[in-house]
Amino acid sequence: MEKNNTSSANLTRPKWIKTLRTLVQGGFALFCLYAGYRYYLFYLWATDQSSTYVPRPPSVEAFLPIGALVGLKRLILSGNYDMIHPAGLTIFLAALCIGLLLRKGFCGWICPVGFASNLVEKTAKKLKILWKVPIWLDLTLLSLKYQLLFLFLVLIAWKMTLKDLEFFHNSPYNLAVDAKMLLFFLSPSRLSIGIMLFLIAISFVIRNFWCRYLCPYGALLGLLALASPFQVKRDQKTCIDCKKCEKTCPASITLTSKKTIRTGECIGCMECVSVCPVDDCLTLALPGKKKNSILLLPAAVLTTFLLFYAVAFITGHWYSVVPPEAMKEIYSIIAEIPHP
Ligand code: SF4
Ligand code: SF4
Ligand code: SF4
Repeated sequence: MEKNNTSSANLTRPKWIKTLRTLVQGGFALFCLYAGYRYYLFYLWATDQSSTYVPRPPSVEAFLPIGALVGLKRLILSGNYDMIHPAGLTIFLAALCIGLLLRKGFCGWICPVGFASNLVEKTAKKLKILWKVPIWLDLTLLSLKYQLLFLFLVLIAWKMTLKDLEFFHNSPYNLAVDAKMLLFFLSPSRLSIGIMLFLIAISFVIRNFWCRYLCPYGALLGLLALASPFQVKRDQKTCIDCKKCEKTCPASITLTSKKTIRTGECIGCMECVSVCPVDDCLTLALPGKKKNSILLLPAAVLTTFLLFYAVAFITGHWYSVVPPEAMKEIYSIIAEIPHP
């Protein structure tokens, strides 16, 4: 039975946080679809399949995280910002900053793949086909994304010299990499189709399969999030062990076994705090202040993200310096461009 100090909806932990998250994530996802469509129109123009010029939307570079990692190391070693894909590097830096300060808020509030994953999960829940992965398998699978991250970090962050980075940066492949990505989806190989169908199908059975077990981007953000000052805290004395928090947690965190949620899996969605029926049992804590409005975290995530965009836009670090005509030339030989 619930104790008397059950809460009513308030602004410290509004009940509509889940709806707000869906709207914010959905907004970003729609924007990405729109940007993808605009890029497709640009591609048609650049490959002489259309006479209508449509400007290339820089935001598609968000889907080039490996190039952004190369760009980050090049920035650190040479001081030069990636001006071929500046938006990609800006979005990557924003995600890293959010990870360090605001948990995996990028995953919880911005990433459209995370949104798609949440939608699949909701459908699977309704269909009652979600499978509870045994702990031994969960832990084994969890290591996969860290292994992938380790591989990328070794190959790029550790092994690539400045000469290698410059070679990659100026290669035709780097200039055409967004078009290569588009072609990957427009005319996928049988193997790619098989892998994508497998990932979609398994996500209906295993909650957030891609995000939880395979995404190296999320793994990196999770490691950074270990240093985040924002933490969900649980008051063991008032907890009534109703497990509502665990049932709602999209990251499958066993909240009732912890006093402080420090894990790199927490995406900062704040749904656990919102559903807890006991006042101040679960709180969003900061050093020196145990109880904060749960709206603070998403507000900070969105502000940080928009701030990076605004600074990049104002200082000329958003649009690529490569003229559309030069891209047109590169795209005309795209089939012959090998991976460097
Ligand atoms: S884990 Fe990867 S795909 Fe999933 S929400 Fe985070 S960044 Fe996006
Ligand atoms: S612990 Fe809470 S804030 Fe973190 S992912 Fe789970 S429900 Fe969201
Ligand atoms: S912390 Fe979780 S288990 Fe405890 S009262 Fe809140 S929702 Fe229930």
